[in-house]
Amino acid sequence: MRPHRMELPRLIEIGEGNLAGFGRFVRRLGCGGRISLVSGPGARGRLGRRIEASLGALGIRARWHEAGENRPGPLRRLAGEVGRFRPSMVAGVGGGRPVDAAKLASHRLGIPFVSLPTAASHDGIASPFASVAGRRPHSMVATAPTGVFVDIRVIRGAPARLIASGCGDLVANMVAVRDWQLGHARGEYYGRYAADLAAMSARIIMENSRRFAGEGTDARVVVEALISAGVASCIAGSSRPCSGSEHLFSHALDRIAPGAGLHGEKCGIGSIMMSRLQGGDWRRVRRALRDVGAPTSAEQVGVSAADVVEAVVTAQSLRPGRHTILAEKRPGRRAAERLARETGVI
Ligand SMILES: [Zn+2]
Repeated sequence: MRPHRMELPRLIEIGEGNLAGFGRFVRRLGCGGRISLVSGPGARGRLGRRIEASLGALGIRARWHEAGENRPGPLRRLAGEVGRFRPSMVAGVGGGRPVDAAKLASHRLGIPFVSLPTAASHDGIASPFASVAGRRPHSMVATAPTGVFVDIRVIRGAPARLIASGCGDLVANMVAVRDWQLGHARGEYYGRYAADLAAMSARIIMENSRRFAGEGTDARVVVEALISAGVASCIAGSSRPCSGSEHLFSHALDRIAPGAGLHGEKCGIGSIMMSRLQGGDWRRVRRALRDVGAPTSAEQVGVSAADVVEAVVTAQSLRPGRHTILAEKRPGRRAAERLARETGVI
């Protein structure tokens, strides 16, 4: 048997208005005199001074680095820039991209990584995986975060669209786990604990969506589910429990219609169709997405019907080694179009 390695976050803090404690948090994780903070301009403008004050009070010097595009070239340059500062830790401050960029830079430099998400938009906040754009968009193995620090008040301040996208990334786990079971039937490693943990984080959204529709989405519930999903990936040692055919569909759209829709939005739409292909309760998936205010149609994310069909047909070819329902059904153009129409995606 091949050894199975699990790398897990060591410290997770979820609070309300606890941002001033970030310095103490990283100190507890062994941060020395310098820390690199990778962020986009929005997060730095909004939180920069408070984060600096919290670190400065403990004598920790911080340097900000702007996260560019998540393409190989800019990622290499970012790692070089961070390396020259010689920090003992790297923090990713922001939504999806800065957290992923910081994760990859820390992995390249071999120093610990802490994530400080400013939005609950995807499950990368606690997972060892990062999305890399390019000709073949994919997720890359990096290092699991040593620490995850969340201030729910900050998360609530993010646009509603982002948390709805996070719900889409979570609902996707339902489909991903089923795909993983299909892979297992062909001899692939399958970890029940990781699979159940990921499926549970999807169920939490499905079961609460009605309530969220009435009272607004509970940011804390979504954040905790996203962290559980990230930890499920850590336990699985792969992105399998959180990324199946619906993620391949989303990655295919990234390539076909770059810049349209958020990651979790596209995964949500993919989940509706792939759930139907799997013979699952796709209407329930669609209802949950509607309840939380996530898009359920191509039009809502600004892609055409032809783009959706193309994405369904080509998705599996982005990762032939990952067995999913798409590898079993192999929908051609006609079948893909029928699927998208029947589920109301186009
Ligand atoms: Zn995802």
